[in-house]
Amino acid sequence: MQKTVIKNGLILKKTNDGYKTEKADITVVGNTISLETDTLIDNDTQIVDAKDKLIIPGLINLHTHFYMTAMRNFADDLAFDDWLFGKIMPAEDKLSDEFAYYSCLLGAMEMISTGTTCFMDMHMFKGQSCKATEESGMRAFIGRCVVGDDLYGERFKEALEEMEEYESNRIKFVLSPHAIYSCSTKLLQQVRDEAISRNMLKQIHASESANEIKKSIKVFGKRPIEYLADMGFLDDKTLLAHCVRVNDGEMDIIKAKGSSVVTNPASNMKLGNGFAPVPEMLSKGINVCLGTDSAASNNTLNMFREMGIFSLIHKGTHEDSTLLPSDTVIDTATINPARAVGMEGKLGEIRDGAIADLVLLDLNKISLFPHNNIVSSLSNSANGSEVCSVMVDGKWVMRNNEFLTIDKEKVLYEVDRLANKFLR
Ligand SMILES: [Zn+2]
Repeated sequence: MQKTVIKNGLILKKTNDGYKTEKADITVVGNTISLETDTLIDNDTQIVDAKDKLIIPGLINLHTHFYMTAMRNFADDLAFDDWLFGKIMPAEDKLSDEFAYYSCLLGAMEMISTGTTCFMDMHMFKGQSCKATEESGMRAFIGRCVVGDDLYGERFKEALEEMEEYESNRIKFVLSPHAIYSCSTKLLQQVRDEAISRNMLKQIHASESANEIKKSIKVFGKRPIEYLADMGFLDDKTLLAHCVRVNDGEMDIIKAKGSSVVTNPASNMKLGNGFAPVPEMLSKGINVCLGTDSAASNNTLNMFREMGIFSLIHKGTHEDSTLLPSDTVIDTATINPARAVGMEGKLGEIRDGAIADLVLLDLNKISLFPHNNIVSSLSNSANGSEVCSVMVDGKWVMRNNEFLTIDKEKVLYEVDRLANKFLR
C-alpha cells in the first residue's frame, strides 16, 4: 500500500481547548492518517519535507453548483429575480454538457488551489459533475437537482444512473430537490421517502429570500421551515442551504430535528438577500456549515474568502467583535460539515484514523507573517494563495502549486471558448 510521510510540518489539531498547532510528522498509509511515529520506511515510501508549512484538514464547501463556475461575473449587480429568472435560468437552458464539464474542472482548480478538498454539489447536467470530480481527484457529495410535481421523471432517472456509474470512495450522492417554490409537496414527500429507504442525505435551498417567505405563507399558510418540518422532510440527514430568514421558532425546529444549516454569506449578500442569523443558530446548538454557493452568485469558490466575510459580517452587524472567533469559523468549514454528512472523525480533522484530505500552506507567505497566532490567521488573514500542496484520499492532487490531475492550460482554453460561445 502506498505510504507517504510528511515530515517537519506544523499541524492544526483540534483539542479540548480549541485549535492548536504542533510540530508533528504525518504518515499516510493508503488513504488514512497515522500520527504514530513511523520507523517502517521502505523503498516505496514517499518522504515529503513540510518545513515552514502548516498542514490543515482539507476545507469542506458544503454548498455549490459546480457546473456554474464558468458563469463567474456573467450576471452581477442585478436584483435577485432578475438575476435568477432573467439571466441565469435562460442561459442555463442553452448550455451544453461540454460547458458543464469544463466549468466543473475550472471549479475544481479553484477549490483545490484554495484548500478545499470536498464539496456538496447540486447540478443540472447528468454525469458532468461526477466525471470532473472523478478526474480531479476531489471528494464530493453530488446531487442531480430535481424540480416539478413528481419525483419519478427523467431527472430522477438520471440521478439513479449517475449513482450507479460513479459512486465510489470519493463520490457519494445526495437527493437534491431545488426549493419549496419549485417542487410540489408531493415531490418533496417522495424525496423524503426515498431518502429514508435509501439511507441518503438530502439537500434543499430553504428560506433564501423575502419573496420565498411571502409565497410560502400565502400558499401553505406557514413559513418554509415549518412547512418542511410538518411534512416530515427535516431530520439529521437534511441540509438546509441558506436559511437567511428563519425566525426563532424555525431555528428551534431545525435544532429539534437535528438538521444542518449551510450558510453562504457572500452569495446571500451579493444577491441582496441579507444573511443567516448564525450567532443565534450557534447559541441554539444548530450544526452550522459554510458554503460558497456557485461562482455565479458569489463570485468565487474560495473558502478562505468565505471564512473571512462570514466572521466579519456577524461581528459588524451585531456590533460584537467576540462573535465567530476563528475556532468557530474553522469548525464550520471542517468538523461541522463532516458531522452534517455523517463522517465525523473521518473528515475535517487531522487525527489518527481520519481520511487523508490534507492541505499544506506556506507559512512564509506575507499574508500569514509573522506567526503571532496561526490559528487566527486562517480565518482572519489567509486568502487561499498560501496553499501550496493538496492531498485528497491519500493522493496528491496539487504539489508545489502544480495541478497533478488537471491540465490547467487546456481547461482555461476550453472554458474561454465555451464561455464565448454560450455567454457572450
Ligand atoms: Zn444554491
